Amino acid sequence: MWVLVGALGATIGSFLNVVIYRLPQRQSLVSPPSHCFSCGERLGVVDLVPVLSYLWLRGRCRHCGRRFSFRYALVEAATGALALAAVFFYGPTPYALAIFIASCALVVAIFVDIDHMIIPDQVPLLLVVLGLTIDIYRLSTFGREAAIAYTQSLGGADHVVYLPVSVVGALLGGGIFLVIGWVFERIMGRPSLGMGDVKLAAGVGAMLGPGYPFLAFFLLAMVSGAIISVALIALRLRRRDQYIPFGPMLAAAAILMLLWPEELTRWVLHFYRG
Ligand SMILES: [Zn+2]
Repeated sequence: MWVLVGALGATIGSFLNVVIYRLPQRQSLVSPPSHCFSCGERLGVVDLVPVLSYLWLRGRCRHCGRRFSFRYALVEAATGALALAAVFFYGPTPYALAIFIASCALVVAIFVDIDHMIIPDQVPLLLVVLGLTIDIYRLSTFGREAAIAYTQSLGGADHVVYLPVSVVGALLGGGIFLVIGWVFERIMGRPSLGMGDVKLAAGVGAMLGPGYPFLAFFLLAMVSGAIISVALIALRLRRRDQYIPFGPMLAAAAILMLLWPEELTRWVLHFYRG
């Protein structure tokens, strides 16, 4: 079963490469079929076997010999690993599938943000839809307490507002990053968090809910973002005045948090006893 899960994940990773390339350019994700960027030759079934075909052909096009970026194989291998991790931690369950789909969306966000400095709106949108779906699942399986984060009585028992975990999480996540972005802009005199980051944080909030896991995600993303920014500048890969996208750190921290919510929260927040 593990081989099957890994292979299926890597194949979806192969599709994610297409999404990462075509989504920001508003091209169709299904047609035309995958082809070599250099000679335009259509890739056959054998060329599309994830990771293995890359190793077998030594990362080159079988027709014109042009090198493909190592990143294609990396995304495939990483997506295979994410599928394995989701099933390992959550078993072969619908919840594991939801976590895997969310991770795939976050992988797309990482690489599109690196390439184009944007995060496609489809990513946070998908995360919110998944969060709502999980709430509905919890509501139908475990009852109202599991899916409702906030209740407000508007004068009398007949006028009670129930807000699902995902909705409160999304509002909290987006709200916090909106405020942080505003504060940073005041301090540094230039925009440092884009609206794409704010929307992504809202999507992550919808998945994690308003609670300690979101706080841990927030700290993890901020600290790793600061460390990586300083490292990039120290290694002279980026200049101090250059914009370093924050989306990849947000998305990476979110993937880790979705896979190990309890353990990572406990590790980041030492006082937390889930
Ligand atoms: Zn070619």
